[in-house]
Amino acid sequence: MTEPDSELLGPSVHRQLRQLVLSGELEPGAPLSVLALAARLGVSRSPVREAVQQLIYEGLAVTVPHAGARVAVVDDAQIRDVLAVRAVLDGLAAAGAATRLTESDLGKLTKMLSAQQDNLRDNADPARDVALDLEFHTFIRDHSGNPTLATELARLEAQAHLYRGDLWRHPRNRSTALREHRRILEALESGHPDLARCAAEAHVHGLITRIDRH
Ligand SMILES: [Zn+2]
Repeated sequence: MTEPDSELLGPSVHRQLRQLVLSGELEPGAPLSVLALAARLGVSRSPVREAVQQLIYEGLAVTVPHAGARVAVVDDAQIRDVLAVRAVLDGLAAAGAATRLTESDLGKLTKMLSAQQDNLRDNADPARDVALDLEFHTFIRDHSGNPTLATELARLEAQAHLYRGDLWRHPRNRSTALREHRRILEALESGHPDLARCAAEAHVHGLITRIDRH
């Protein structure tokens, strides 16, 4: 799918576009005009077109008949569906990672949680929360020993962050999520797959509960 001439540009344009979508700068439902985005990012149309296709593949964009591509909208019903699947797969990923993570890996995860704590204390940009949350979950699934699982989870995690309720933004929800992340790390440190699975599932079930509360 990657054209030879865009091999160097493709991934970086895709990363920039993905960041614009996940940070909310490009709101759910916003049109993804190849021409406008190429001008905004200062690149040619070919890598932008490719990046938009990649976003569609990832579930972050959809094609609307006669209207082109738009940022996907994840509503209350869809977020529950996405998280219900994520709960099971996140549990599987954590169970796999529990026996694979090295001391150095666990140190990296500890640092990630410190960064989450700092960001929360400084009441910093919620968009950074999104990046830090994705970083934490990405690291775990990438160490699950199951690339198929990692690919599926990448889609589901990104889609979950398109949801625009205050699930990710409310300070109380942000600090609860951090506590849940700590429990996941403790379970991973114990090296017990079942404990890791339970902690990861509990985090996603917590997210579902926090949606239902509103
Ligand atoms: Zn999380």
